[in-house]
Amino acid sequence: MADLSVFSDSYLEARGKFIDAARGAGATVYEYRHPTLKGPDGEPLCLDMAVAGPENAERVLVAGSGTHGIEGYSGSAAQSAWLASGGIRRLPKRTAMVFFHAHNPWGFAHKARGTEENVDLNRNFVDHGNPYPANPGYAEVHPIVTPAEWNDASIAGIFRGLDAYRQKVGEKPFSTAFNGGQYSHADGIYFGGQREQWANYAFREAVVKHVAHAKHASIIDLHTGIGPWMEHIYLCFHKEGSPARERARAWWGERAVNLAGVTHKALADLPGRADRRFRCSDAQGAGHLDRGGVRHPQARRGAARQHGRALAALPRGEVPGARAQGACRILRGVLSERSAVARRRARAVEGDLRAGDQGDR
Ligand SMILES: [Zn+2]
Repeated sequence: MADLSVFSDSYLEARGKFIDAARGAGATVYEYRHPTLKGPDGEPLCLDMAVAGPENAERVLVAGSGTHGIEGYSGSAAQSAWLASGGIRRLPKRTAMVFFHAHNPWGFAHKARGTEENVDLNRNFVDHGNPYPANPGYAEVHPIVTPAEWNDASIAGIFRGLDAYRQKVGEKPFSTAFNGGQYSHADGIYFGGQREQWANYAFREAVVKHVAHAKHASIIDLHTGIGPWMEHIYLCFHKEGSPARERARAWWGERAVNLAGVTHKALADLPGRADRRFRCSDAQGAGHLDRGGVRHPQARRGAARQHGRALAALPRGEVPGARAQGACRILRGVLSERSAVARRRARAVEGDLRAGDQGDR
């Protein structure tokens, strides 16, 4: 019988499994609780964290889940599987795995992609004190994807409309208009928000507290949606030829940067991604938080001042590829376990279906 136990049917269940797996593995658990919102059953909504390995590790690999709410069901399972599989015992010296469970717990709990404000969290990491990135193409997409009524005919109409728009403008402009993120239509799709989301702030708080000490840090955010069925793919957003992209290639191999398996025909330019607040600087060649965080107007004020100083104090320096290899092996483990679990689950489901067929006959 396949082990499906790491998968969950609710945020509450997934959260419990993650915390149990983390504690069982000897990891230290932290929570960042939303001050007011609750889940559908009245449960608290939290960004939970587990630090597996030394708290003061020089090298940290962050693996996050649930940036897009409902996508957290898969990422959470991968995180719990790694923790439950004894991964912590395989960590190289001075290395920690830091898990962020449910970046967007509201979306996770309510089975939605966006936050409580219909915000795509992965477009929300922009400087809200400056003009927002323009996406003029979205104005044409918006009426297509927001029909007055939702029924089979209107849904078919959405796809017809999108196909027509795609043929009119071409793949790349289509992608940018459709999913590149927009800051003009609060009731639209891929809306980046017009203020910082709680989940954005919680993420940056947690990074400053649990990752900023590291000399070398890297992040992988677990998503679902744009790869082949039950296969993992990598999306490396660093530009071709950039030092950061070459570093990713050296650490994780060609497969990590060649976009194999990505089902989008053209990737949009994506402003406001979370990893832009946690990225390798092409200029400095170091794994660190994007210093852009300190330019945020809130970071200059009151209680946030300390937060800004912490961001500004983050280390810079060269990251020799060899020293990061250990962390990369962990990453591969996380991904391959996710795939393996997904395959086992599929086989079990197929088995159940076959058994059901036979029972009916
Ligand atoms: Zn996603």
